[in-house]
Amino acid sequence: MNYNPDMSEPTSFIASDKKKEMLKTIDVLSFFHESTLERLAQESKEIPLKSDTIIFEEGDPGNAMYIVLEGEILIYQGEKSLTSMLPGTFFGEMSLIEAVPRTASARALVPSVLLEINETQFQEYFATQPQALMAIMKTMSARSRKIYTSLIASNAPVIKLTGENGSKDIIPSLDEHYREVLVFEPETFNFTKANSLACIDTGFTPEEIKQKKFTDLAPQMDPEKLTRMCESLIDKLRPMVSFETEFNRKDGSTYPVECKIQLVESHTDQYEILLWIQDITERKQMENTIRQMAYYDSLTGLPNRNLLNDRLAVALANSARNNQKVAILFLDLDHFKTINDSLGHEAGDQLLQQVAQRIKGILRKQDTVGRMGGDEFIVLIPELMETDHTARLAQKILDSLAPAFKIGDNELYIGCSIGISIFPDDGMEIRTLLKNSDLAMYRAKEKGRNTFQLYTPAMNFKAMERLAVEKNLRKALDREEFVLFYQPKINLKSGQIAGMEALLRWDSPELGMVMPNQFIPVAEETRIIIPLGHWVLHTACQQAQIWREAGLPPLPISVNLSIIQFTHPNLVSEISKVLDQTGTPPHQLELEITETVLMQDTTLAVSILKKLSELGIKISLDDFGTGFSSLNYLKNLPLDYLKIDRTFIKDFNLQTNSAITKAIVTLAQSLNMKTIAEGVETEEQKQFLKELNCDEAQGYLFSRPVPKEEIEELIKSWKTFN
Ligand code: C2E
Ligand code: MG
Ligand code: MG
Repeated sequence: MNYNPDMSEPTSFIASDKKKEMLKTIDVLSFFHESTLERLAQESKEIPLKSDTIIFEEGDPGNAMYIVLEGEILIYQGEKSLTSMLPGTFFGEMSLIEAVPRTASARALVPSVLLEINETQFQEYFATQPQALMAIMKTMSARSRKIYTSLIASNAPVIKLTGENGSKDIIPSLDEHYREVLVFEPETFNFTKANSLACIDTGFTPEEIKQKKFTDLAPQMDPEKLTRMCESLIDKLRPMVSFETEFNRKDGSTYPVECKIQLVESHTDQYEILLWIQDITERKQMENTIRQMAYYDSLTGLPNRNLLNDRLAVALANSARNNQKVAILFLDLDHFKTINDSLGHEAGDQLLQQVAQRIKGILRKQDTVGRMGGDEFIVLIPELMETDHTARLAQKILDSLAPAFKIGDNELYIGCSIGISIFPDDGMEIRTLLKNSDLAMYRAKEKGRNTFQLYTPAMNFKAMERLAVEKNLRKALDREEFVLFYQPKINLKSGQIAGMEALLRWDSPELGMVMPNQFIPVAEETRIIIPLGHWVLHTACQQAQIWREAGLPPLPISVNLSIIQFTHPNLVSEISKVLDQTGTPPHQLELEITETVLMQDTTLAVSILKKLSELGIKISLDDFGTGFSSLNYLKNLPLDYLKIDRTFIKDFNLQTNSAITKAIVTLAQSLNMKTIAEGVETEEQKQFLKELNCDEAQGYLFSRPVPKEEIEELIKSWKTFN
């Protein structure tokens, strides 16, 4: 009787969601995305079969493969039984792949349900999925080996077809099964029967087996759970239960097995349970291999994009729950392509492997480094307590890559650019965080490579917006769209205003009020910063002079200098000119530069600073603490102020931040410099800084940056802050 979907009465219909759950447990399907499985479950034909229904016979066209959802299918050739397929396995794939007629027959041993995958579906779902194809190949290979061993061991038992009435007495013919089959009593778990194959794998003889209980062989099994499973069979709640456990061999070794238990139909009151065992060592190994393939990069052995995404998702979820941060470091090797092109791919591959090892070597256990492909790596730092840890780690990574790499006879040097984004500050979703760390990485490349860069919202200007900024920025100077705001600096001892910082704003008719973080990078790239910076310097000095002439107490004015301005050859002469033109005494001008300015070309920086200092101008090191440049060079520099970055003030109650702040103040005192704290927003922060003997402070607690018109009023009505 060949199966005919119209004639065979359904033995069961499986609900679609249950079907999907079943499909998930089938190893060759486990790589498919949930939605693919859903489609597969819906689109594929479900075939219910009665006992003994023939699915195909030798010579039939091999135009489909089948997944066993329920029951058991026998594969045989002529009179010879080859194997039987249980739920969770598939068959019929060989003829489908080879496009040849069937070389064996298949029929249902018991009422069964199959899922048919036809040629078109096979092409669509499997042929395009290397991992699924690989899994099929491995299963096939493991299967042929198993059949081969079994055929030899069992001396190719001849199958008997069941009688006319369809009833089947399995017990007297246990040896007909090529699998390991045992029978046990549900109350005691004592084995009563075992076929010859069962003993081969365990190493026990049939006589020895009969002295044992199921739980002797599988000591990990929970007896209560086993009892419940047996009861569900006896109560006919389920036709078969399958589970995985470990078996002990006679020699003490263990191996993983898949067990399926079924009730033995008998006429007596004594229930017996039939146990089918399958050694799944190979499948487990295959699962590991596949997991390795699916989640690890084959070149470096590091987690790949898939696993990184998984780990990121877990890290974000945990951190959101525990109020912690997660840092994502996006690494891209500098000029890797040149090495690949000039020395060949093999050298490139070796370099990537060594880079991977070095990075891995400096991370903590809970951190992950993965390869995104090409020369891109991601470092994931979960449970981040302090943001500054990432900057230190980024520097550590750069340092670890600095020594030469030995590749064959060559000694190679490779730099690396690192972009950093932090959850939740720079994004809530994986996609955004990766994109932002990538943007920051590009910025690091622009800064001159072999450096790191924290993401800032300014980078997120989309190409169009950025173009708009650039286009309008060119006209803004002529159209006088720039304004300066001023923010007072407070002497923490006296509570008096000690100075003003000029902060640039762009009042653009097209874009509205634009903040410096959004346009300074563009102004730097387009070098508009040179005339713009000159305008700031001139305007700020002039304004300070106007206030002095109006009788307000003389206050030093601070101006921020971009690195582009700083390295411009005319800087010093231009500044002296501005001082002359505006009548500003040099000690009333303070220039704020950032650490990056000093890190680029230290010798040049030192000589420029010396000249400025000789003019009598004050220099302050802005955003101090974020650059992680060596503190050693400080003593050789003519600096007047260290400006403690606001990140340390913001979370000053964190142990490391308060320690860093204390260290900066102590350091500055020992070098005869003054300290000023940025971003002071609360009374507690101010109190903390006062106790440390920090000299000055600046922040919203005292005043936001305000337009020049408000300054006179602010100074006149100033009540000392103590
Ligand atoms: P900066 O020199 O570190 O300036 C301090 C920044 O912190 C200012 O942002 C200021 O408004 C902000 N700030 C002050 N007090 C607080 C506070 O209590 N809490 C918080 N959260 N922020 C506070 P702004 O004005 O947006 O300027 C950003 C950066 O743009 C400046 O950082 C500076 O690096 C740059 N910049 C501003 N004006 C100029 C300029 O004329 N030339 C150059 N080259 N850069 C400039
Ligand atoms: Mg500043
Ligand atoms: Mg600053």
